[in-house]
Amino acid sequence: MHRDAAETGDLQALLAQVGAALDQFLRFEHADPVRTNHEWRPRLDTALPLQGIGIEQVTDELITYLIPNGSPVAKPGFTSFITTGGTTASTLASTAASIAAPQRYLLTAFNFLEELSLGWLASMCSIGHLQGVYSSGGSVANLLALGAARQHAFEKVGHDPAAAGVHGRVRVYATREAHHTIQRAAGVLGIGRRAVRPIACDAGGRMEIADLRRVIAEDRQAGVIPMAIVANAGTTNTGAIDPLLAISEVAREHGIWLHIDGAYGLPGILDERKTHLYRGLEHADSVIVDPHKWLGAAVGVAATFVRDRELLRRAFTQEPADYLEGAVHQDAPSPTAEHSLDDFGIPYFDYGIELSAPSRGVVVWALLREIGVEGMRARIVRHNDLALRVADAAREHPNLELLLEPTLSICCFRYVSPDVPNLNRLNQNLHRRLVRENRSLPSTTQVNGKLALRPCFLGARTEVTHADELLADVLRIGAELVSELVANGTKSSENIQSGHNTLNL
Ligand SMILES: *Cc1c(COP(=O)(O)O)cnc(C)c1O
Repeated sequence: MHRDAAETGDLQALLAQVGAALDQFLRFEHADPVRTNHEWRPRLDTALPLQGIGIEQVTDELITYLIPNGSPVAKPGFTSFITTGGTTASTLASTAASIAAPQRYLLTAFNFLEELSLGWLASMCSIGHLQGVYSSGGSVANLLALGAARQHAFEKVGHDPAAAGVHGRVRVYATREAHHTIQRAAGVLGIGRRAVRPIACDAGGRMEIADLRRVIAEDRQAGVIPMAIVANAGTTNTGAIDPLLAISEVAREHGIWLHIDGAYGLPGILDERKTHLYRGLEHADSVIVDPHKWLGAAVGVAATFVRDRELLRRAFTQEPADYLEGAVHQDAPSPTAEHSLDDFGIPYFDYGIELSAPSRGVVVWALLREIGVEGMRARIVRHNDLALRVADAAREHPNLELLLEPTLSICCFRYVSPDVPNLNRLNQNLHRRLVRENRSLPSTTQVNGKLALRPCFLGARTEVTHADELLADVLRIGAELVSELVANGTKSSENIQSGHNTLNL
């Protein structure tokens, strides 16, 4: 084999083989990888290869051992996490970028799409007045937003925290329903995880304004700098949306940065039945959204939006470097450039924490170009309808109980039976059996002390049949478990002993 051919291969033929294997994967006729562990693992568990096997053989191993033993996250019945398998548009765009634009900078068409698509994303989500930057996920997107908030809070007292370090006590206000990446961001930014002060929420998981006001007043009294209020536009747990307008009023009164975490839920604004819940979004100082959640991008694409990216630059600049000779710190590419290497294009590497980074805008561009805002809206409405469908069934069926009205595409419900006192344990066991069957794969969560089954409908391939299958599976397995329990007479032993939890619910 010719050496160069071995290293580069015939992309067209090889991609066709990988594409066929991925189409087969998407039929989901294969078993869970843990079941087939004994087949693929010994084939992959080899020593460091001193001699290569060549690209044909690598492709063959990809097709034979990797792809069929991949992740259940891509399954349409998978409703556990808030990530899904990427759509075809996402796969094609990122594959193309991995070859044609290995970096997001320079004056290339890909760098152009980076900015164009951030603008599309912002205007689709009604935050068109904000400027964006992509990053790898909601964790980093929240970090960047809070980095901007930190910069803002300290600059007001004449201090540059990014250059000189942080001193003085600051606080971030968020409910316990806020994503834990907020705490981590506070740790990374040097203000400490404990600077995140919990604000009470109501039974629906929404921030209590009275408590927010009380806590801020207390902190002001104590001379603490209030750095940011973090509000959720769709919590990970239940999809709850904080009262954004009321929170924005508190933020404005006190001059505190308002960050809105819409990693999952921001695109929910497209469902006209929900738009009113987002009132106040226009007052946000920063907002994040993860295209790799509801929009169908493969994992690795998030966006942070702020009013003025200059603040992000001051928070995250790496300072000029010799090897980035000619780096231009401005938001418009040089009009005198004669070659794509003459200018870095928009300097995203100074608005965040990544220097080398893939072109992500092309993925968002492809997703929106393929189905448009209307296609995206239809998908989001469909997913919200699936949550409502499960909620209706849970309200009506005597063996189901709705634990929380869905706000967006998450529904929290459980199986109930008068014969079983410990419903938390019953639902835990039911969930375990569901997962073993490998068809309907929701997660569980706690809703006001009750263990809930928690489907989050999000996948581009998830349809009404998958919600109906979930309901049918829950009812069937629930009935099986109850009859097993009754047959074993467990009612009188184990369940009653640990049942005090349940009986108090
Ligand atoms: C998923 C999620 C995050 C974290 O995003 P990653 O992309 O997983 O890093 C942050 N906030 C909310 C509300 C989320 O749902």
